[in-house]
Amino acid sequence: MLQLGILHDLLILRITQSNKEEKKFPLARIVGRAGVKWTSEIPVDKGWIDILVPKQKGIERPYVIEVETGYNLDCSQILRKFERFGKAWTKPGSLPVGLSGFLDSIRGIFPKFCVVIPLDFAEFSPIFKAKRISVFLWEGTLEWKCKKCKEITLGSGPRKPMKCNSCNKNEKSLRLVGLADFNLKETDV
Ligand SMILES: [Zn+2]
Repeated sequence: MLQLGILHDLLILRITQSNKEEKKFPLARIVGRAGVKWTSEIPVDKGWIDILVPKQKGIERPYVIEVETGYNLDCSQILRKFERFGKAWTKPGSLPVGLSGFLDSIRGIFPKFCVVIPLDFAEFSPIFKAKRISVFLWEGTLEWKCKKCKEITLGSGPRKPMKCNSCNKNEKSLRLVGLADFNLKETDV
């Protein structure tokens, strides 16, 4: 079990929350300024927007940000998702209602599309850039906690370690709890 949902949530947290050491929001690297209003998990036309930054002071266009864990990365599926979001934006009544007017500010203004993919997949950036989608690369070390000894085993890649490094218990005892050394940068490809 790869615990993809947890990794996806950890990524959304790392992107939107301030980094204490850097005193910087990774989200600011995407939208150009810190302290912006954002929301996550917005349903649009059978899909979900991972992070939505609405138009606000200093942000002229809303941002639709897709966050990818890198497991089974499927570029065409992501492109099709953006295509559907784009259509929904231009079709009246297809955006969700009921978020206390939060989305009113974004109606009628076509969003900026961005995708966040693992650094290891940087070579796929041109596929997105050709569609005018900005690409950001994330890197980080996965932290797996052992249910038995409570120690942390670090994962060098996206795969789950085979066993706990402290007590040697097998991978079934490991649960994904954190993402260390997180970094986000814009692709230069
Ligand atoms: Zn252990």
